[in-house]
Amino acid sequence: TSAAYDTNNIFAKILRGEIPSYKVYEDEHTLAFMDVMPQAPGHVLVLPKAASRNILDADPAALARTIPVVQKIANAVQEAFDADGVFVCQFNEPAAGQTVFHLHFHVIPRHEGLALKP
Ligand code: 5GP
Repeated sequence: TSAAYDTNNIFAKILRGEIPSYKVYEDEHTLAFMDVMPQAPGHVLVLPKAASRNILDADPAALARTIPVVQKIANAVQEAFDADGVFVCQFNEPAAGQTVFHLHFHVIPRHEGLALKP
């Protein structure tokens, strides 16, 4: 079982406007902004605004509203960065590489022959 939601995680602060972010999309339920340490140029994070730690405790309805935005952003970054493909992923709990504990999807434009930053 996963730990409780921490209302002071960095994405909660971004959602409350307490920390700045470079927003690229926002609607009633969803926010997308540029990753501050991009794995590749055009790396965007897409978040449901509803509080959940990760996919394990997410409300399925909130998840269902988020995926179409992930798709929209994937198409947008592919176009904007003239990418050959788009990597979409997310991590749940530290053992799986999660470092910020508000559910988010990574959307990363990819180019043939160009590796992600380590
Ligand atoms: P994860 O939890 O999925 O492993 O990674 C969290 C992601 O959030 C990382 O890619 C990291 O660069 C990004 N990140 C961490 N802190 C901030 C921040 O303050 N602003 C933004 N825009 N991204 C952040």
